[in-house]
Amino acid sequence: MRYDDHVCFGTWKCVSQTTTNPHHSPRVLVTGGAGFIGSHLCERLLRTSHAVVVVDNYRTGRPENIRHLLSHSNFQVATQDVAEPLDVEVDQIYNLACPASPVHYQHDPIATLQTCVFGAVGVLGLARRQGAAVLQASTSEVYGEPEQHPQTETYWGHTNPIGPRACYNEGKRCAETLFFDFYRQHAVPIKVARIFNTYGPRMMLNDGRVVSNFIVQALRGQSITIHGSGEQTRSFCYVDDLVAGLTRLMSSPKHVTGPINLGHTEEIGIRELAEIVIRLTGSRSTITHVEQPQDDPSRRQPDIAQARRILEWAPTTSLHNGLERTIEYFDQLLRNHTATAK
Ligand code: NAD
Ligand code: UDP
Repeated sequence: MRYDDHVCFGTWKCVSQTTTNPHHSPRVLVTGGAGFIGSHLCERLLRTSHAVVVVDNYRTGRPENIRHLLSHSNFQVATQDVAEPLDVEVDQIYNLACPASPVHYQHDPIATLQTCVFGAVGVLGLARRQGAAVLQASTSEVYGEPEQHPQTETYWGHTNPIGPRACYNEGKRCAETLFFDFYRQHAVPIKVARIFNTYGPRMMLNDGRVVSNFIVQALRGQSITIHGSGEQTRSFCYVDDLVAGLTRLMSSPKHVTGPINLGHTEEIGIRELAEIVIRLTGSRSTITHVEQPQDDPSRRQPDIAQARRILEWAPTTSLHNGLERTIEYFDQLLRNHTATAK
């Protein structure tokens, strides 16, 4: 079977059959590689001499995120659901396939849960057959509405198993369970990263998460929509820092399984974030308070002592600098949209 322009619309098998890797660069599968974090991860892996294969069904990812990588001889893409059988020779797997924005993961909650659970079974089965290391993009959402602050990895969490966020947070919790069961039962080399709120270029205009929403609203001069009072907090990590943490975790010794928190430790209120975005964009937008979604966590801040000690990793990008870069990205994107519409 052939594939054109490195994009394959058939089964995953076609990639393994057509790939040549003469220099034996480590072969890495990135599921969800056409998404926001995944596309930055692919860039970093290619820069560091890995051969990268992406599996993505474009549920929330976009071909534009990886179009600039298609000419790279070590880069391939297959359009496929992560829950379908995976058959490829790989040394490492990063499992990122899953919508991450509450708006998107709640749009089709059953599909989200299936992606979390069947996707984990699929990548773990492949890792077991290939002897590959497999990293799970887990989430701070496993802590739910935390009764412990900041959150350490030993905290078991406080989630609502039947609420609207459950398709995601319970799905990710079940995926973690599967990872540790494959580790104990089959000695699969696993790595579990608990990722806290991450932002940066390549989030979608309609992503629905707070940083992109506020920036797009500010640049368009629309009202900034704060859910509830805006007193709820998050800790925002710039995408380059996060991706560096993921690759550090993958390169860590075999006994380092995680779970390990990756995120920025600076906690900020959502109202304060809105004010910073308005200031940095020079916008005239006003603030509107709308209803806060059910089960929206009130506080979130990672304890990253483990990441500092074991991975020698900590974020280096300030919120101010990261927001400036993200604003620049969305500003350009909106200008391009306006130019195309004319
Ligand atoms: P994203 O929505 O931009 O990317 C997810 C990618 O997965 C998209 O390209 C999408 O098309 C793909 N995908 C979704 N379902 C799929 C399926 N069934 N089969 C194949 N591909 C599928 O999200 P993101 O922010 O880049 O997040 C990437 C990963 O990191 C997710 O697993 C998410 O849960 C995790 N994470 C992200 C954050 C964050 O703040 N961005 C925080 C915690 C965890
Ligand atoms: N939020 C908001 N306005 C928006 C989008 C989100 O006030 O337009 C709030 C949301 O209710 C939450 C916080 O910002 O309290 C972070 O939301 P996001 O969806 O980015 O991430 P998550 O809730 O998954 O941490």
